[in-house]
Amino acid sequence: MGSVETIGEIRSAGLSSSVPERKRVLVAEDDPVSRRVLELRLRQWGYEVIAVDNGFQALEVVQADDSPELLLLDWMMPGIDGVELCRRVRLMSKPVYPYILLLTARDAKQDLIAGLEAGADDYLTKPFHADELHARLRAGGRILGLQKELIRAREELRFHATHDVLTGVWNRKGIMELLANELARAHRTGESLGLIMIDLDHFKAVNDTYGHAAGDAVLKEVAHRLVHSVRTYDLVGRYGGEEFLVILSNTSLDEVKGRGRRLCAVVEEAPVKFQSHEVKVTISVGATEAPGSQDLQLTRLLHIADLAMYRAKEAGRNRVESKTYAS
Ligand code: GH3
Ligand code: MG
Ligand code: MG
Ligand code: MG
Repeated sequence: MGSVETIGEIRSAGLSSSVPERKRVLVAEDDPVSRRVLELRLRQWGYEVIAVDNGFQALEVVQADDSPELLLLDWMMPGIDGVELCRRVRLMSKPVYPYILLLTARDAKQDLIAGLEAGADDYLTKPFHADELHARLRAGGRILGLQKELIRAREELRFHATHDVLTGVWNRKGIMELLANELARAHRTGESLGLIMIDLDHFKAVNDTYGHAAGDAVLKEVAHRLVHSVRTYDLVGRYGGEEFLVILSNTSLDEVKGRGRRLCAVVEEAPVKFQSHEVKVTISVGATEAPGSQDLQLTRLLHIADLAMYRAKEAGRNRVESKTYAS
């Protein structure tokens, strides 16, 4: 869909998930006995373990998209040692900050400082106490949990800043930014960009007859039908109160008009149900195109789409009219 349909949907699409978290840990340890002991312990404690015996392999695992967020790294290893590994991990711009626990036989203060400076979050000196390791891993897990919560909150803020609360489609700010990008892209590639301006017909009468809540329900349903009637990469946004915009990349004017007729049909074909009422709804559609060959200003393009929409109003509503820069 051009826009996520409801805020509920985007939430279930990934912002927060009710699936139980998998606890995954990377163990990088060259000593086979220690590695085996660690693996067994970690599995007992419910971790999914990826175990490697050198720093190069560890780096490969961390570089993968689906790498574990908890890293248990031995200090002394062939290839890249634990401290160098810390340094390299911190240089990667991973979307999620991995928590690094360094395992070391050393306990000289200077060495520990070097490990922490290189980017380790915590360390444990060998031979370690199993309960202590478990407690430190849980502490790391808490940090990772907090981080996830922050990321979720940030994504939610980002979503709310660019989406309409009522309908779930892009809000005015969101759709304007997308339109500016699409316009620049069309000019760059020489492709034509289609734009549709939609205004609900006699919408004030819906509010006056059935009440504001019915009006809101109509707006939601119309947005839903629009989103489901365009191509997955087309963009639907709420431009104003009862006005929507649809951006159709790489689309000629004839195709834009055809798409507009389809939108009129899906809105008209069934009344919107609200409580015991069946509310008849139609839309007026203005269709236009920005030819890729011209460097058309965004405000100019919107103005042309708006004029086309007013032509549709004047011609009797529930129809598509078009206008271009030249016509
Ligand atoms: P026309 O066919 O000429 O467009 O007539 P219209 O009644 O749709 O146009 P008008 O501009 O007179 O009325 C638009 C109405 O849309 C007025 C306003 O109260 C209503 N409206 C705008 N935003 C919302 C909203 O979020 N919810 C509800 N329920 N109504 C809204
Ligand atoms: Mg070692
Ligand atoms: Mg209006
Ligand atoms: Mg209207």
